[in-house]
Amino acid sequence: MSDCIFCKIINKEIPATIIYEDDRFVAFKDINPIDKVHFLIIPKMHEENLLTAKNDLATREMFGEMLMLAPKLAKKEGLEGFRTMINSGVKGGQEVFHIHFHVYGGSDHLRKI
Ligand code: AMP
Ligand code: ZN
Repeated sequence: MSDCIFCKIINKEIPATIIYEDDRFVAFKDINPIDKVHFLIIPKMHEENLLTAKNDLATREMFGEMLMLAPKLAKKEGLEGFRTMINSGVKGGQEVFHIHFHVYGGSDHLRKI
């Protein structure tokens, strides 16, 4: 996706503070953090969101692996606990249409939801 900013981060066409990368995923700091620590985990394969993703075994496995990066990277970033958020669709508050898991924490004023 040539006009996708997260694909551009994957391709190193625009800068980001990358905290993790492997052959399938990249994690980088959110440019506008909502907590002391706030990063995003994305798949290298362009996928819009959970509303449009295929529900096949490969996709489910990919999302499972992506989710299990959250505790690993949160600990690496010094968090003892964290919150994850996935915005799906315009009406779900999504602004960047390359699926991403928000992972954030560090403050002690998380509102109970
Ligand atoms: P969402 O509303 O779930 O689509 O969230 C998009 C997130 O991407 C927001 O939290 C933005 O602050 C973040 N973001 C947008 N552009 C960049 C960028 N170039 N580098 C890092 N984070 C970004
Ligand atoms: Zn993309």
